[in-house]
Amino acid sequence: MRIFDPHIHMTSRTTDDYEAMYAAGVRALVEPSFWLGQPRTSVDSFTDYFDALLGWEPFRAAQFGIQHFCTVALNPKEANDPRCAGVLDVLPRYLAKDRVVAVGEIGYDSMTPEEDDALARQLELAVEHDLPVLVHTPHRDKAVGTRRTLDVVRESGIAPERVLVDHLNELTVAMVADSGCWTGFSIYPHTKMSEDRMVRILQEHGTARMLVNSAADWGRSDPLKTRRTADAMLAAGFDDDSVDQVMWRNPVAFYGQSGRLDLEDAAPDDAGLYEGNSIERGGE
Ligand SMILES: [Zn+2]
Repeated sequence: MRIFDPHIHMTSRTTDDYEAMYAAGVRALVEPSFWLGQPRTSVDSFTDYFDALLGWEPFRAAQFGIQHFCTVALNPKEANDPRCAGVLDVLPRYLAKDRVVAVGEIGYDSMTPEEDDALARQLELAVEHDLPVLVHTPHRDKAVGTRRTLDVVRESGIAPERVLVDHLNELTVAMVADSGCWTGFSIYPHTKMSEDRMVRILQEHGTARMLVNSAADWGRSDPLKTRRTADAMLAAGFDDDSVDQVMWRNPVAFYGQSGRLDLEDAAPDDAGLYEGNSIERGGE
């Protein structure tokens, strides 16, 4: 089984996670830039982070046989902090980089006017740079936030097939699917979506334009939720081709719209190329 995790924050994870992900079938992933938990106090803090997503983290992933791509943006939460507004001015430089496969995560957190501005501006940047976008939907007031997000996406003029709306659930899947955008689901250990609920959504809505991610980060999360969902699909009677569509071909088709998803080096899923971590420890 080959797995592409379309949303995971590896900066927050250990090498044991990379090793376990490879063993589970993960061969490629996208790491969206996001909030670090601790508020950033300057634009330089973002640029160091973006540089790490483009340099150190792909190198680290490669040690474990996994291809690493990223998305960059001013995240919805920090769009409300005036110390971070200058990020929008440095983004064009990063949106030109080879491993950046979308603008994201953008969207709403608390639905403030500042978030409106950052969302609209970054949708423009996506159009200017011919990149798809990864849109986060708020965890509070999800139905209202998702509806408003779809309105802003429509007004921006970006083609809906270039938009992935993420963190969906039973209440929001239909409105996003009807909009023509791609639908993303984050599977968590204790809250929000579970793999069994995900299987029921796939049974009801089909597998087209559906993406499943672990969204693993520094919180309680599980980087193997993609594989666990794939196993739950098989147990529920989905065939291997349907699992491959959701776990590999759909994310490849979505992020492939960037023209930058170079997967030629991807190890075949049973090649056993992984021979262990060769990262030299030093400087910690
Ligand atoms: Zn995220």
